[in-house]
Amino acid sequence: MVAGRVGEGDGYGGYRTRLVETLQQKGIRDLAVLRAIGTVPRHLFVPESVRHRAYDDVALPIGGGQTISQPWVQARYLELAALTGRERVLEVGGGSGYQTALLALLSDAVFAIERIPSLAHAARAALEASGIRNVTVLVGDGTLGWRPFAPYDAVLVAAASPEIPGPLVEQLAPGGRLIIPLGDRNAQVLTVAQRVGPDVRTSTVADVRFVPLLGEFGFR
Ligand code: SAH
Repeated sequence: MVAGRVGEGDGYGGYRTRLVETLQQKGIRDLAVLRAIGTVPRHLFVPESVRHRAYDDVALPIGGGQTISQPWVQARYLELAALTGRERVLEVGGGSGYQTALLALLSDAVFAIERIPSLAHAARAALEASGIRNVTVLVGDGTLGWRPFAPYDAVLVAAASPEIPGPLVEQLAPGGRLIIPLGDRNAQVLTVAQRVGPDVRTSTVADVRFVPLLGEFGFR
């Protein structure tokens, strides 16, 4: 958990407050999640060319053919993760680093994996400029997870996969939650998997559309 300061007094507070109100109107209830969105300077995580839209509830291009997800989707993810501030979190598909920043405020430590080095580089810079320190951005194939830091209390996958990558289940702590869009390249269902003893229980939440998870246990 990061104390105070992040995003404070940067002149964008009014825009963040409006975004928070929009998300509340669209059904987001978790106060910790809303507080995090009201705190993180999203404009630092998007390219200059789309900065004027940083606090709109829309997906935006971040380069490399990738997108930063719509804030409403990110807020739903975070509600589903039900974080208490004590978790060790793995994020697959770190992209812009914005979701990483939100996770950093809601958990103890975040490990984000991104396969495109230039995005990982920009994400690290934006996280540092935001004053967020309890994060590690790694470059690699996130479908393999990241064994040295496992197990994770929560795993959030921000790209669409045909099935749940096996290594991510293996690296999930008992009782831990994994959130992933499952489906084909065009349409997916947001799915929550929970590790209960030796079993994995899944439930589905909503229809979504994400960029593909490209890797050994995702799309080839
Ligand atoms: N949460 C991000 C969303 C980025 S979109 C944000 O807030 O910006 C999904 C990201 O997943 C893209 O950046 C894409 O490059 C990345 N990705 C796709 N397959 C991956 C893989 N196997 N390992 C790590 N990252 C991957």
